[in-house]
Amino acid sequence: MNRILAGIIFFLFISTGYISFLVHERQQELQKLTHYAAAWSAAQMVSEYYRFESVLGLYTSDETITLDDVRMRLDIMLSQSDLMKEGDLRNYIESNKAYHALALQLEKKLEYLDIHLDKMNRSELQAYLKTMQTLDAPLSRLSSGALDKDINSINDANHKIKTLYYIYSATSVLLIIMSAILGLLIFYQNRNIQKAHLQVKNLAEELQESKEKLQVQNTKLEYDVYHDSLTEMNNRHFFWGNLNETIENAVKSNNTVTVMLFDLDRFKVVNDTYGHDVGDMLLRQISQRLISMGLTSDTLYRLGGDEFAFLSSGLTESSAVSLAQNICDAINQPYTIYNTIINITTSVGIVISDTERRSDYLYKFADLALYEAKNEGAGKIKVFRQWMLDKLQESRTLEHDMALALANKEFVVYYQPIVDSFTQEIYSYEALIRWIHPLKGILSPDTFIPVAEKTGMINEMGKSMLEMACREAVSWVIPAKISVNVSPVQLSSKAFAGIVVSILNETGLSAERLELEVTESSLFTESKTPMNTLNRLRTLGVKISIDDFGTGYSSLSRLSRLAFDKIKIDKSFVNSVSTQEDALNIIRLITGMAKSLNMKTVAEGVETQEQLESLQALGCDFIQGYLFGKPQPYIDGKIRNG
Ligand code: C2E
Ligand code: CA
Ligand code: CA
Repeated sequence: MNRILAGIIFFLFISTGYISFLVHERQQELQKLTHYAAAWSAAQMVSEYYRFESVLGLYTSDETITLDDVRMRLDIMLSQSDLMKEGDLRNYIESNKAYHALALQLEKKLEYLDIHLDKMNRSELQAYLKTMQTLDAPLSRLSSGALDKDINSINDANHKIKTLYYIYSATSVLLIIMSAILGLLIFYQNRNIQKAHLQVKNLAEELQESKEKLQVQNTKLEYDVYHDSLTEMNNRHFFWGNLNETIENAVKSNNTVTVMLFDLDRFKVVNDTYGHDVGDMLLRQISQRLISMGLTSDTLYRLGGDEFAFLSSGLTESSAVSLAQNICDAINQPYTIYNTIINITTSVGIVISDTERRSDYLYKFADLALYEAKNEGAGKIKVFRQWMLDKLQESRTLEHDMALALANKEFVVYYQPIVDSFTQEIYSYEALIRWIHPLKGILSPDTFIPVAEKTGMINEMGKSMLEMACREAVSWVIPAKISVNVSPVQLSSKAFAGIVVSILNETGLSAERLELEVTESSLFTESKTPMNTLNRLRTLGVKISIDDFGTGYSSLSRLSRLAFDKIKIDKSFVNSVSTQEDALNIIRLITGMAKSLNMKTVAEGVETQEQLESLQALGCDFIQGYLFGKPQPYIDGKIRNG
C-alpha cells in the first residue's frame, strides 16, 4: 500500500513537472504566432510601394497633385523600406538571395528618388516610374512568399499547440485519475487507520479487562496459597510464615512463644466408617467451632488432614494449658452430621519457650509433645519437656543399634504356651521376640518394636522371627501350633504372603501348625492388601487370630465380614475379670459373639486361678498367661517351663 502511495505521489510530482514543461512549450509556440509578422510587414510595404507608384503616376499627369504629396509618400515608403532591415522581414529576406537583391534594388530606387525628386521634372519622373514598375512583380512575389512562409509557420505552431494540448489533456486526465486514486487510497488508508485505532482501543479495553481478571485471580491465588480450601482456615504455609513472625516479635518484646499442635483422635476411623464426605464435614464443623471461639483468626491454622495448630506469644504454661483445654472442650462436644452423632477428641502437644528461637525446632518440640500425648491415649494434653527430646535421641541410637543387632543375630524367640482352658493341654506356643542386648541385657519388644515399625526394620525382623519360630517348631516333640505376631507394617506389604509361603516350604512346617496374630489396626486401611494376604494364607491352612481384641475399634459388622479363626481377648479385660463387672460383661459379649461367628477365643494375661475359673465359666476356649507359663527360650530341644 505504501509503495503504491509513494508511486502515485512520484507520478504526480513528475506529471506536475511535465505539465509545467508543456505550458512553457505552449507559451513558446504562442509567442511564435505573435512573432510571425513578416507577411504583414511585406504586404504593408508592397501596398505602400504600389500606392507611392500610383501617386507618382498621378503627379506626372495631374497638376493638382503636388510634389509635397509625392514627397510624403516617398517618406512613408522610405520608412517602410527600413522595415526590411529589421525583425522577421529582414530574416525572411536574408534567407533568400533573390529577395535580398530585390531589397537592395528597392532601396537604391528609393534613395535615388530621395536625392533627385525635387530636381526631376514630370517626364523624367514618368520614365523613372517605369523602371520602378519593374520591381512590382518581384515585390508582389516576395509579399506572397512571406505570407506562405508565415502561414506554414502558423500551421506548424498550431499543430504543435494541438499536440501539446492533447498531451496536456491526457496528462491532466491522468492527473485527475491519479488524484482520484490517491484520494481513494487516502480514504482507504484512513479507514484502515480508523479500524486499527478501533482495534487498538478494543485491545486496550480487553487488556484492561484481563488485567482486572488477573488481579482478581492473583488475589484468589494469594488467598489460596495461605488458606485451606476445605475449611477456609489459614494453612500450613501461613502457619510457618506467622511462626517466624511471632518469634521475631517475641524476641523484640522479650516474650515467650507458644506453639500448640492438635491432632484428632480416631479421625481415620470416622473417615473409614462414615466416609470421606462426613470426615470433611466434621473438619469443617471443627474449624467453625475453633473460629467462633473468638481466638484471633491469625493464630489458628489447619496444617493438613486432622492436624490443627495454634500460635501465640506471651503465654505462661498454665494459661497455655488451660487455653488448650478450652479448645479441646470445644472440639470434644458431639457433632451431628447427616443425623448421626459423632464424638471426637483431640490430643495436644504444646511447647512454650523463651529461649528457643528456631521455628523448626519449636515445631519439632510441639510435635514430640503431641506424640507423647497420643502415646498416652486419646484426649491428652502434653507440654514439651527435655526428656522427650532425650527419648527421641535414644530411639535414634536404638535404630542404629537395632540395625547392628539384626546383623549380629541378637534377636531371639521366646515361647509362651497357650493351653486348652478345660483340659489344660498345650494347644500352641506364642513366639515373642526378645533382644539379647550386649550391654542392656534382655529387652522386651515394647521398647523396640514401635521404632522398628517406624523405620520399616520390622519387615526384616518379623521375617527372621517367623523363620526361627517355624524352624524350631518343626523340631518339637509335641506338634503344638506356633503363633507368630505380625505387625500392621508387615501386613501392608504385598510380599508378605510370599514370604510366609517360602518360609513354610524352607522349614518344612505344615501350614496348619502356623497361626498368625494380627491386630485390629492392621485392617483399618483403605488398602485391600492385608485382607487379600490373610485370605490367601487361610486357604493354605494358616490360622488367623485377632490380637488384643477390645482395645481397637473393630465394629461387629466389620468383624463378621472377615474370616478369622480366633479372637484373643486383651489382657486388660482379663486382669479385672474377677473384680469388675464391666470387664466380665465385655468378655461375655466377646465370647458370645465369637461363638456365633464360629470363632475360638483366647484369654491372654491369665495370672490367677480365679481369673481362670471366671474365663472357664464364660466359655473361653484357650488360656495364655503366667499361670501356665511365662515366655521362655527354646534350649536343647526344650522350652523351659516358667
Ligand atoms: P502380645 O502379642 O499381646 O503378647 C503378649 C504379651 O503379654 C507378651 O509381652 C507377654 O510376655 C505378655 N504376657 C503374657 N502373659 C502374661 C501375663 O500373665 N501377665 C502379663 N502382665 N503379661 C503377660 P511381650 O513379650 O513383652 O510382648 C509385648 C508385645 O510385643 C506383644 O504383645 C506383641 O504385640 C509384640 N511382639 C512380641 N513379639 C513380637 C514379634 O515377634 N513380632 C511383632 N510384630 N510383635 C511382637
Ligand atoms: Ca500376640
Ligand atoms: Ca495380645
